[in-house]
Amino acid sequence: MPTDDFSLPADSWRWPEPTWRSHVDAVRAGRRLVPHRWPGGARVAVALSFDSDHETIPLRDGETSPGRLAQGEYGARAGAPRILALLARYGVPATFFMPAVSALLHPEEARAYTRDGHELAVHGWIHERNMLLGRDDERELTVRALDALTTLTGQRPVGIRTPSWDFSASTLGIMLELGFAYDSSLMADDEPYEIVAEGLPTGLVEIPVDWIRDDAPYFTMDRYGSVRPHSRPRDVREIWTDEFDAAYRDGGVFQLTLHPHVIGHRSRLVALRELLDHITSHRDVWFATHAELADTARGVLLDPSLSRPAADTPERT
Ligand SMILES: [Zn+2]
Repeated sequence: MPTDDFSLPADSWRWPEPTWRSHVDAVRAGRRLVPHRWPGGARVAVALSFDSDHETIPLRDGETSPGRLAQGEYGARAGAPRILALLARYGVPATFFMPAVSALLHPEEARAYTRDGHELAVHGWIHERNMLLGRDDERELTVRALDALTTLTGQRPVGIRTPSWDFSASTLGIMLELGFAYDSSLMADDEPYEIVAEGLPTGLVEIPVDWIRDDAPYFTMDRYGSVRPHSRPRDVREIWTDEFDAAYRDGGVFQLTLHPHVIGHRSRLVALRELLDHITSHRDVWFATHAELADTARGVLLDPSLSRPAADTPERT
């Protein structure tokens, strides 16, 4: 029996080889896009991202009570200003993925991101689950989101992160049709790669995410559920520090996904501050927005001679 909405039918063991191969080949990781050296001769690229979901997660689920919405509002009122101040103190850029409804609720915040030199990118209309939408609805919401952010800031976003961190059968086609330069929703590698569809290169750069490098699994809880994975912020900082140190050794990318309503709390922001202290204690670090990172990755895609041979990363484990 299926255990959730996305589970495979119970008879998947009956599938002939072409069937299971076609599922796997639909969206695949192609070439790893890591240059010999990052811009400025840096050894590691650091791409910080914040998903400014705020009220859209309860709204998406039809939860409209003031208590649930207030938890999201915290991200806008308390979290985002602290994060912007912290980034300014370290002088580092970040990418803010913002659902359009969140940006329309907090237009000054959306404009502050771009005004401060950060990147604003698409994160759905109302944090919808694209997996549950038909192609026309998914496309329309993506177009609407793109238009709303463009109107608010005067800049057309070039990047997208699906709120579900997943692709429906239509998602990749919509991204390509709308001309996005990169996606940041999949998890096939630690380093950027080209997305390959049905065995064909698409030219779309993937900047992979992972739950390990996300604050939500460590800190959020379902009040009425039994799972309460509260973690000590400094324990989480240690995990992220290990991720960064390995990326530094490999000459790769350290990418992080945070949420203002999660990491923006006083005791948790300590973890981000101490992590930034650690990262900035290294000299040869390139802090980049996801768009800048995707640009560099595309350079490697267009000119393979810029690519670092795998043999150059003997420490990769
Ligand atoms: Zn989100």
